[in-house]
Amino acid sequence: MCLMLGLASTNANAQPLKAQELADKGLEAGKNYPGLHNLCDLSSRFRIAGSRTAGSTKKRELSAEEREKRKQGAYVEPTRVFDDLYFVGNRAVSSWAIQTSDGIILVDALNNNDQAERYIEEGLIKLGLDPKEIKYLVITHGHGDHYGGQEYLVNKFHPKVVMSDQDWNMLEDPEQMIQNPRWGKPPKRDVTINDQGIISLGDTNVLLYVTPGHTPGTISLIFPVRDGEKTHNVGLWGGTGLNFGPKEDRIREYAQSAEDFEKAAKHQNVDVFLSNHPRRDGSVETMQNLQPRVPGTTHPFVDGKDALGAFQLLHYCTLAQAERLAERD
Ligand SMILES: [Zn+2]
Repeated sequence: MCLMLGLASTNANAQPLKAQELADKGLEAGKNYPGLHNLCDLSSRFRIAGSRTAGSTKKRELSAEEREKRKQGAYVEPTRVFDDLYFVGNRAVSSWAIQTSDGIILVDALNNNDQAERYIEEGLIKLGLDPKEIKYLVITHGHGDHYGGQEYLVNKFHPKVVMSDQDWNMLEDPEQMIQNPRWGKPPKRDVTINDQGIISLGDTNVLLYVTPGHTPGTISLIFPVRDGEKTHNVGLWGGTGLNFGPKEDRIREYAQSAEDFEKAAKHQNVDVFLSNHPRRDGSVETMQNLQPRVPGTTHPFVDGKDALGAFQLLHYCTLAQAERLAERD
């Protein structure tokens, strides 16, 4: 009886965690993912995607030589990361190809048609895959660094293009649509996926979750990958940055999505965290450890990574940012 009372009084006195406590908790959980740590920085400014910072001037045109240099610097060798998962992106943005027994599910199309040709088409060919086998193009969210190369892929290989209803709506609304001269054309509405939808292709099921936050209908994915005899499960977070300004409600929505996705990831035994930007998940660095790998050792994308910790960071640190805004009032 006394113990019960004791517990009750402790709970009654418990204060909700403060912004900094939440951020510290997130950082600790996601300590293996330095590419996410800036989400936990409570002194950062709330940027807005597509807008320039006050006082900045328009970017000057690059010379042909500078453009070529930049292109070379962005190049990443196309890589077979798991037996049935391939990286065909560049240093700034990822495109992941899931190979199934009945074709390829491609996740994201990079910035523009040139990149789709150079990295995705040529990358798949270099890896021994046939780009004509791309049956689905899943676009994680309606920002052009993820859809921009879709026109090239759709015209040449005719995949079904998958997005959430919220992000199809966003692309159809000139008020919400973000423009950037580097980005190719947005896709025309095709397949709409709802929360917890499934794409089944051949022997592979890819689970899709609508995780609003970064955009109104960002899609995150869970799917199995093989490493020899072993199967692992990937949780791919579809939109990371808080680049929509200091909107407390929307940041809380993001935190809720991350919490829900973390639960789903736990349920599905996710042990690989991936993003659609290499600097977020560290994939370019981790891919370098694939080459000298000793047979029989744990896969470098799994080894000591604690994938669920990444989703805990996304949850706690975005909640911390919302609390920071609330504490300000
Ligand atoms: Zn984005």
